[in-house]
Amino acid sequence: KNALVWLRRDLRLFDHAALHHALASAETVYCAFIFDRAILDALPSADRRVEFIHDSLTSLAAELEAAGGHLIVLHNIAEKAIPELAAELGVEAVFANHDYEPAAIARDAAVGAALRAAGRQLHTFKDQVIFERDQVLTQGGQPFSVFTPYKNAWLRKLEAEPSVLSPWTVEPGSAHQRGRFAPGRSTLPALEALGFERTRLRELGIGNGPALFEDFLGRIADYGVARDYPALKGPSYLSMHLRFGTVSIRHLVRTVMTMSARGAAGEGGAVWLSELIWREFYMQILYHHPHVVDSAFKPAYDRIEWESGAEADELFAAWCEGRTGYPLVDAAMLQLNRTGYMHNRLRMVVASFLCKDLGIDWRRGEAYFALHLNDFELSSNNGGWQWASSSGCDAQPYFRIFNPVTQSQKFDPEGKFIKRYLPQLAGLSPKEIHLPRDPIVDHDQARKRTLERYEVVKK
Ligand code: FAD
Repeated sequence: KNALVWLRRDLRLFDHAALHHALASAETVYCAFIFDRAILDALPSADRRVEFIHDSLTSLAAELEAAGGHLIVLHNIAEKAIPELAAELGVEAVFANHDYEPAAIARDAAVGAALRAAGRQLHTFKDQVIFERDQVLTQGGQPFSVFTPYKNAWLRKLEAEPSVLSPWTVEPGSAHQRGRFAPGRSTLPALEALGFERTRLRELGIGNGPALFEDFLGRIADYGVARDYPALKGPSYLSMHLRFGTVSIRHLVRTVMTMSARGAAGEGGAVWLSELIWREFYMQILYHHPHVVDSAFKPAYDRIEWESGAEADELFAAWCEGRTGYPLVDAAMLQLNRTGYMHNRLRMVVASFLCKDLGIDWRRGEAYFALHLNDFELSSNNGGWQWASSSGCDAQPYFRIFNPVTQSQKFDPEGKFIKRYLPQLAGLSPKEIHLPRDPIVDHDQARKRTLERYEVVKK
């Protein structure tokens, strides 16, 4: 029997559910990745994510070849290409890992139907999360919409079922996996042939997930405090790897829990685990409430009237380009534009600024982030924006409005982060650095307008 493993956001050859199951049930296993034109055709020609995928596939192809196999890479519409490839290779079944985004669910349903119509199977598995879909529910059997009780239920479930952390080993030809990789030559087109050019991604030093994780483990104990200060190397910088599956979530959670049990992860270990649970929280929100893709989680918030027209467009452009006059907001947007990364604290600050200082629809900011973030994840991005605009589940109340100057004083007290991106402010003292310079909006007036704008949600 032959099988085809369809790689998507799981670009690794270790601890991989679909690969594990394919090798356990088939004799010959093919591996393929489709550069899906349904996604790629809408992107600008310089895109760090496409380049990251391309780099990851280059490594995967080499690894597969070293293991006697090869990697098939196509540039096509996945919905069409996978059933065609399965027929061409004559496989009985296609194996893939679950994806929880509405468009991916529809794509996978269409691929499954086309395969079945031709007498083939599509087998799919949980891989990118510890708990998926409705594995964590309230006692009444409902999905959670508040984080803390979700997290507590998640942790209880893990305690009851520790085996969910066991790795899905990939050992072709072993006693329990009789399958082997199909020999052949990899077919990875050059990045340019896909219509993309190189960016400065490689200069950012984020290419190696396992090495980043090792580095982070050395400072995880301080994470709880350090993670809030953008000038510090506080967080793990693993988000892009989690997005594309170049690290394994089971491995991350297992390692941190083992360290914590030994007392070696300090307070930071539990805080970091909690962030990984936020990721799964938002994934299950998106799965159960797909309307959040273009509407407020709380419908009343769709009554809000956002600023529109030429003036709003100009304010939006100033926000995108880091020209608001609020140094922390501007430095944060420059970090995003230049590196594709933005520190979590800053994501909250700039998102709040767009919705509550500029009165611009959160969906416009969400779309800008979606285009520029290396780690763009529909569920977390949408969750983060709806949190900031107060329209989401477990969001902050709308009358709690971030003050961009006090946030700056608190989280970048000496202005070190600001000066990294705005060197023209290098001469300013810690007292001056946070103050707005030619601001495009006055925070106190904006705050009043926002409180009025949000009145409609009470009706
Ligand atoms: P660490 O602090 O090391 O956290 C470890 C991992 O936990 C992250 O890699 C991520 O997978 C997960 N995580 C951490 N914080 C959150 C969170 N608040 N929600 C969900 N998961 C979290 N994260 C994305 O991965 N993709 C996005 O598109 C995204 N958009 C966001 C938009 C806004 C407006 C906000 C406020 C937050 C957004 N986040 C997003 C969450 C968070 O900012 C990033 O996950 C984090 O900054 C990534 O850096 P890190 O890997 O160094 O994080």
